[in-house]
Amino acid sequence: MSSKDFFSDLNKEERDIIVNKGTEAPFTGIYNNHFEAGVFICRACKNPLYESKTKFNSGCGWPSFDDEIPGAISRHEDLSGGRVRTEICCSNCNGHLGHVFHGEQITEKDTRHCVNSLSIQFKKYNNLSKAYFGAGCFWNVERVFRERKGVYMCQSGYMGGDTIHPNYKEVCSGETNHAEVVEIYFDENVISYESLLDIFWKNHNPTTLNRQGLDIGTQYRSIIFYTTDVQRNLALNSIELIKEKWSNPIVTKIEKAPVFFRAEEYHQNYLNKNNLGNCSL
Ligand SMILES: [Zn+2]
Repeated sequence: MSSKDFFSDLNKEERDIIVNKGTEAPFTGIYNNHFEAGVFICRACKNPLYESKTKFNSGCGWPSFDDEIPGAISRHEDLSGGRVRTEICCSNCNGHLGHVFHGEQITEKDTRHCVNSLSIQFKKYNNLSKAYFGAGCFWNVERVFRERKGVYMCQSGYMGGDTIHPNYKEVCSGETNHAEVVEIYFDENVISYESLLDIFWKNHNPTTLNRQGLDIGTQYRSIIFYTTDVQRNLALNSIELIKEKWSNPIVTKIEKAPVFFRAEEYHQNYLNKNNLGNCSL
């Protein structure tokens, strides 16, 4: 197939971006605030371009990725608009995606592929399950889970409160009743939910109400938000298995998962990005 064939089914909006190298208005694209596990493919030729775990929120108003699928992207010098920029295109069909920037220090890879939503399409990974844990400061909890084999993606956020889209300041005020949690996308064929529960119990104190070490407040409560009845039962059983190890009663709550609100970008992968050890634990 020639590029022309890949582009023949595009609508006018898509063609303006992909073929004529236009740019959609910031904060208008459907993927700007989209953070699920899956892969972003080229809208024209369907070639896989970016894993969703490389996506981050740069605040620029366009989907941002800090790495590409090897070989998926081609780069071209772009001198338009009186600036020197690097244009990025799909390496298979040469459709325009956006530009790539370096040196902004937002993520560890220090790279931002700034991509138009109209150039890409999201395909969800249906083989992954979701788990949610609150065990004190999410910086620490995220690090404990994110490098495990079988964990595809792990993000910090807020759950179980009374407001929508809370920010960190609101959550820390204690007035919204949100818990700091991590959202984990995992492959049950590689790591079981029981193994995640085991990691959860071993990495915090489940007997201190609304407190982990020096961190005090309802946002630090020990909580498991289950996504299925199977998870609920496994979580309940796991309390029976670990309670003997503690002299005080387990105060961990087990609740059905409500909506997850992703935390501000600076909280994501915080300890690794900032080269820090554990927080207060
Ligand atoms: Zn393509």
